[in-house]
Amino acid sequence: MIELEKWFATEEEIIEGKTTDVYFVRTKECLKEDNLEKIKVWTEVTTGGIPRDGKNLVFLGLQDVLHLLSEAKLPVNVYSIKEGTVLPYTDINGVKLPFLVIEGNYGDFAIYETPLLGLLCFQSGVGTSALRLRKAADDKTLLSFGIRRMPPTIAPIIDRACYIAGFDGVSCVLSAEKLGIDATGTIPHAFIMIKGGIKDAMISFDKHINPEVSRIALADTFNDERVEVLQALDAIGEKLSGVRLDTPSSRKGSFRDIIREIKWELKQRNREDIKIFLSGGLNEESILELRDVADGFGIGTYVANSPTIDFALDIVELEEETIAKRGKFAGRKQIGYCEKCHTFLCDDFSKEEIECQVCGKKMSKLLEKVMENGNIMTKLPSSEMIREYVSKQKEKLKEI
Ligand SMILES: [Zn+2]
Repeated sequence: MIELEKWFATEEEIIEGKTTDVYFVRTKECLKEDNLEKIKVWTEVTTGGIPRDGKNLVFLGLQDVLHLLSEAKLPVNVYSIKEGTVLPYTDINGVKLPFLVIEGNYGDFAIYETPLLGLLCFQSGVGTSALRLRKAADDKTLLSFGIRRMPPTIAPIIDRACYIAGFDGVSCVLSAEKLGIDATGTIPHAFIMIKGGIKDAMISFDKHINPEVSRIALADTFNDERVEVLQALDAIGEKLSGVRLDTPSSRKGSFRDIIREIKWELKQRNREDIKIFLSGGLNEESILELRDVADGFGIGTYVANSPTIDFALDIVELEEETIAKRGKFAGRKQIGYCEKCHTFLCDDFSKEEIECQVCGKKMSKLLEKVMENGNIMTKLPSSEMIREYVSKQKEKLKEI
């Protein structure tokens, strides 16, 4: 093992169940000794809320959960809502929605609760933030720049969630490769410093980099943004397609006014086509404030460091008897969804038809069987397909 991997869990270790909490290992031991390892349970993944006062969450991480359970060869059945579904955490009556169900012998899968929740909580958390940012940015460009805030092993997971939620691009080379898109980026301050200024940096970039790559100048290293934008324009003229302002907070003053001045100068030179991208400590609030004067945003910490959705896995049926711990709802549940009223309703899982409480029409059932006896039953959709699914739902939602 190389030193870099020392503190990264390997795929084998995860599949072996070594990234679990020790209490599950001890529970399994006790159940085995008491001959209860094969006790049949129906368990549900639910949550008690959505961070940042959210109204809806984006459910992500299902494919990884299915791969984990299948690689670990667990003889379980799994029912789940579709990956990428955007929905509240309770139904119309305040009953917590079961996003995913695992049915099987408790002793078989108990130790996997920890890693499977980790996969769902983190990805759904990033996806939910990313969708809120998408909504805030409206039709402006959104780029994922946050991978440097998290361990490199999870860079593609962060970017996948952002892309599925509707970000236009990602900066990470590996993420872009996996998503089948081109990585997006400008130039770093370090390069401008080495070249002694924006002018020589842009001349070098233009000389050496594939002409298909957009020429976007980072215009805030040594001087006033307006001055550096004009220097970049002077350096490569018509090839300049955009500028990025990463202005440090100590220099920001009125960011809107800085942008307005730049736009005015560009207009005077008949270069209103030059796009203005902003980055550096942006969040939903600052995007809403600046979206009318900017063409795009690079989002880093705010999305990479998204609060997780705190999913829990709980037993709601034990040997075919309904049961629930305090704060949970007992029994097998299906989620009914009425497209017309956009309402969700928990009802008895075995019920043939679920009726909308608002319009009385037949609801569609959201929990589908996706794993039988450890085998994945469906063809898993690509990230592009999940992205389209999220986008369609977003149109109907007033708030995320
Ligand atoms: Zn209805």
